[in-house]
Amino acid sequence: MSTAINHEPDVVLIGAGIMSATLGMFLEELMPEVKIDIYERLDVAAAESSDAWNNAGTGHSAFCELNYTPELPDGSIDTTKAVKIAQSFEESKQFWAYLVERNLITNPKDFIRSIPHISFVWGIDNVEFLKKRYEALQQYPIFKGMEFSKDKEEIAAWTPLIMDGREKDQPIAATRMKIGTDVNFGELTRDMFNYLGAQEGINLHFAHEIKSLRRSRSGNGKWKFKIKNLATGEKSNIYSKFVFIGAGGGSLKLLEKSGIPEGIGYGGFPVSGQWLKCVNREVIEKHNAKVYGKASVGAPPMSVPHVDTRMINGKKELLFGPYAGFSTKFLKNGSYLDLPSSIGLSNIKPMISAGLQNMSLTKYLIDQVTQSPEERLEALKEYVPDAKMEDWELETAGQRVQVIKKDPVKGGVLEFGTEVINSADGSLAVLLGASPGASTAVSIMLDLLNRCFPEQIKTSEWQNKLKEMVPSYGQSLNKDEKLLQETRLHADKVLGLESLVPIR
Ligand SMILES: Cc1cc2nc3c(=O)[nH]c(=O)nc-3n(C[C@H](O)[C@H](O)[C@H](O)COP(=O)(O)OP(=O)(O)OC[C@H]3O[C@@H](n4cnc5c(N)ncnc54)[C@H](O)[C@@H]3O)c2cc1C
Repeated sequence: MSTAINHEPDVVLIGAGIMSATLGMFLEELMPEVKIDIYERLDVAAAESSDAWNNAGTGHSAFCELNYTPELPDGSIDTTKAVKIAQSFEESKQFWAYLVERNLITNPKDFIRSIPHISFVWGIDNVEFLKKRYEALQQYPIFKGMEFSKDKEEIAAWTPLIMDGREKDQPIAATRMKIGTDVNFGELTRDMFNYLGAQEGINLHFAHEIKSLRRSRSGNGKWKFKIKNLATGEKSNIYSKFVFIGAGGGSLKLLEKSGIPEGIGYGGFPVSGQWLKCVNREVIEKHNAKVYGKASVGAPPMSVPHVDTRMINGKKELLFGPYAGFSTKFLKNGSYLDLPSSIGLSNIKPMISAGLQNMSLTKYLIDQVTQSPEERLEALKEYVPDAKMEDWELETAGQRVQVIKKDPVKGGVLEFGTEVINSADGSLAVLLGASPGASTAVSIMLDLLNRCFPEQIKTSEWQNKLKEMVPSYGQSLNKDEKLLQETRLHADKVLGLESLVPIR
């Protein structure tokens, strides 16, 4: 790896989070000769949302996340999103297994582990909802192995911490999926950058911020970037044919600067998060699951409370949250001017419309921000009835920027998912939003390759390589049970995960 600035790389990746890492690995495998320069404003990779302490580390597979299966007005359960996310996570596992098998990244135990995913609810209506959800998911092979229970003793055996001290006559129900996962996305990201940084033609520049980008005036179709070395203050200009803006919360501002018409009308709404981190080893050891509940009314989908066993830097941890918060920063290490400076003539209307339509979210955020420690403890006690204040400490999580976009009818809408936007010629792509996020990085990047490299992706060379990297690529795991079993068994074996079927 060279740290010298290459003034004309083929590809520029902005940001050293899991998204740029994933795209970098794909491009390096598909085009070994490609010259890639990666620019990161911080001193290390994965120090924003991708860091283990900044996200919940859930391998999102829709096994336990109740917000992925909304109840429709007729009382039925919409499973569309759950099935899509479950398939995306299988693709991620296949890709990570490919990287491990070829020694491109090392010990999978450092970044992924099996942990039961449990949904837990109380109250008659919620019990009914969970039962319907469980039954609706049973029609798909991808959710086979899920267990449902209303039996207090059985649920106590699954998750004693949640049941100790609980009211005896409370109606409760839970589902359990043993093959859930806890993922240290920070470790995985750094592993990928360690590999990329060691490759000929790939340069990783830390403490370098992309200040602006625009089409080069020379008419050669390239992008021109202004870069600042944050250590020395030195400024440089570089040019490239393709750019991916994987700057997390910093992406919106760079999209605005790029001036592409496809980016007009987008805005961002930052939602920060906090966890309660358990500091009592005895309590930490008692829990061994990710237990997801139901979001309270008015709460944004990503603030569904969960009690999470985590494995971070080889140590078992226990987190509860997230509690939502509000800050005008778009990055944890960002500036309070991020939100105001992102608003301009092109997005003010969608921003105001989205704000007016989401007053319940505003009220929810105000309630959350003004919570006292005692109120936070009360929220925790709904899940861990015996929780004691002295066993838990408040920690700040990562910053999410939810997408606001223009809408022909409503003027503007607030979205909770992720969205890839690309220029018409495919020379620029950007990722906005953060949910379900890192777990689906692989399918997001496959979609991006399809949009930005439409000719190359049709070739048998790329098709074969993509199938090698993601064996179910281009096929539906949902429709092909045999393919699901084969690919899942293989990936789980390579990654050292629990499997539903014993591995021979
Ligand atoms: C509280 C919380 C909980 C979450 N829980 C989960 C979960 O359980 N499971 C899951 O799958 N996902 C989860 N996510 C989402 C997941 O963390 C993100 O989707 C993912 O980490 C985003 O990766 P990224 O590479 O896009 O961004 P990041 O990891 O934020 O990386 C972007 C990088 O770009 C850099 N950058 C920004 N601007 C510039 C610039 N101008 N020049 C150079 N560098 C720049 C930043 O410093 C940063 O390092 C969670 C997120 C949050 C905040």
